[in-house]
Amino acid sequence: MHSIIRYLKLPCALLTITASAGSLPTSAVASGPWKLLIIDGQNNHDWKATTPVMKKTLVDSGLFQVDVSTSPPAGQDLTGWKPDFAAYDAVLSNYNGTLWPPAVRQAFVAYIRGGGGFVCVHAANNSFGNWHEYNEIIGLGGWGGRDEKSGPYVYLTEDGQEMRDTSQGRAGAHGPQHEFQVVIRNTNHPITRGMPKAWLHAKDELYDYLRGPAANMRVLATAYSAKQQRGSGNHVPMMIVVDYGEGRVFHTPMGHADYSMRCAGFATTLIRGAEWAASGKVTFPVPDDFPTSQATSSRSP
Ligand code: ZN
Repeated sequence: MHSIIRYLKLPCALLTITASAGSLPTSAVASGPWKLLIIDGQNNHDWKATTPVMKKTLVDSGLFQVDVSTSPPAGQDLTGWKPDFAAYDAVLSNYNGTLWPPAVRQAFVAYIRGGGGFVCVHAANNSFGNWHEYNEIIGLGGWGGRDEKSGPYVYLTEDGQEMRDTSQGRAGAHGPQHEFQVVIRNTNHPITRGMPKAWLHAKDELYDYLRGPAANMRVLATAYSAKQQRGSGNHVPMMIVVDYGEGRVFHTPMGHADYSMRCAGFATTLIRGAEWAASGKVTFPVPDDFPTSQATSSRSP
């Protein structure tokens, strides 16, 4: 069912239908709205505050119809919780908790592999350190028992060369929250095209020392993890895309708290990342209130 829906959204299929049918119902137009499912329910972050911010951001874009699937709390049995991934164009994880039951894991991997979209936000990359396929899907992760066996640390040099460091050590670190500049490293990707080359992100945790399989992964943007902020002194990934099977993954390590997510830059990258994950295209424009290289821009609650 899912694959048929996705096929019908392909522009070439639509052109054929349009040419032969003349009056096409508007629901079949390839520009969405895309169905997106947010997963939450367990997190060492305030998911009850952040899920509504992301949901409102996505719905207000006019591009998404958003549902939320909330897992049982930590310590409770998850076997009755079965999110219907296949009914959605994209899934967004705001979840960092107990390993999902085998049936949910299998359905999730099959969904992405078969062409589903996935958006991984902040601590969702702490989840499931020992779940091999999940780590391939997100590219890089932190904490969760990850170490050199999980894959290399990945960062970029000043001039944009990607470095992969296989040295031993734990994954995931951050210093005190602060505003930091996000620098676009790939200006040709649909998610980043037309975005200011550098923009100042609102107060957030700057995730550093992420490591993972990093296969079929591209780093679209980095932030400089300053040693004065207890960072590595490297330019570390802040926007990542991964191809997994037929699926598309957008991964943002940003988004520690609701105030971080009210950054117009975060909101725009979330919308564009989710749109790309769902459809392979980006139509959402860079808004007028987008931050500049020297000034943050946050939206009121
Ligand atoms: Zn955090």
